[in-house]
Amino acid sequence: MLACSECTVVYANSKVKRCGRCSALVCQRCLDGSVHVCQPGRIIRIVDLVAEKTSVEWLVDGLLPNVGWTLFHGVQGYGKTTFALQMCEALQLGKTFMGRETKQTDVLYVNADSPVKEWQAMCARIAPECEGWTLVDAPERALGNPRYVEAINTLKRRVKPGFIVFDSLYNLCSSPARINTGDILLDINQMKAIASGVPWLLIHHPAKESNRASGHNSLEGNCSNEWSMLQTKLAIQKGRLVADKELLLVRSNETGMWSMKPERALSATVQGDRQSRTEGYNFMNHRLT
Ligand SMILES: [Zn+2]
Ligand SMILES: [Zn+2]
Repeated sequence: MLACSECTVVYANSKVKRCGRCSALVCQRCLDGSVHVCQPGRIIRIVDLVAEKTSVEWLVDGLLPNVGWTLFHGVQGYGKTTFALQMCEALQLGKTFMGRETKQTDVLYVNADSPVKEWQAMCARIAPECEGWTLVDAPERALGNPRYVEAINTLKRRVKPGFIVFDSLYNLCSSPARINTGDILLDINQMKAIASGVPWLLIHHPAKESNRASGHNSLEGNCSNEWSMLQTKLAIQKGRLVADKELLLVRSNETGMWSMKPERALSATVQGDRQSRTEGYNFMNHRLT
């Protein structure tokens, strides 16, 4: 039995439809009589909400949800850009990333962190065949200049990415001093506007001698996921939908590329954790069973 959100009458399930635009549950009579008007939100009985199948859609299974934004920080030289670019390549190709399934997604990597030649060399090393897009020569302080924001927006609309990386907050923000105040959320909102609904990741640096993000705590409050790149793992400090707390990793001395820590080295982890890792990394199923 489902309740119509217009007339609030409870009907048999077959008599209630979901509005294609606003997802409201509406009875056939209200639909036929054009009673239903889409609203920015919707009302639904709690019992009906609970019954809705909430399948979290993942870009990277169990790690990166297809919603919200990720604050990604780590000490300079710890391999954040490498990790992010490897992830972009995996998404673009729809191939596994750190043993996890990905959903094929077109990517846009906004690079304001490295000079073009350096960035080109990194791309050649990490993702030479990647057909995803990158925005090079993004001007420093771009988020403080409406004309630059509009330009990035225009370029993004041409490419229509399903995932965006902004690298980095320090170089893109309207002023580095702002990172230490709540006003940094104005810059975050600019990136949200550019992303306009697609998930995105923002590269940042940590506060000195800590694995917290540098700057005002509103950054950590506002993000949906917070990742910290450490030398032997990715620590997941916040993840509204993510169950895992860390990803154990190794970095190649030769190529600088990240990969999963080999399984035999996992003996110190707790039993349940190890089990989930040995079962083909099917974290979703593991959690739900
Ligand atoms: Zn109705
Ligand atoms: Zn509607």
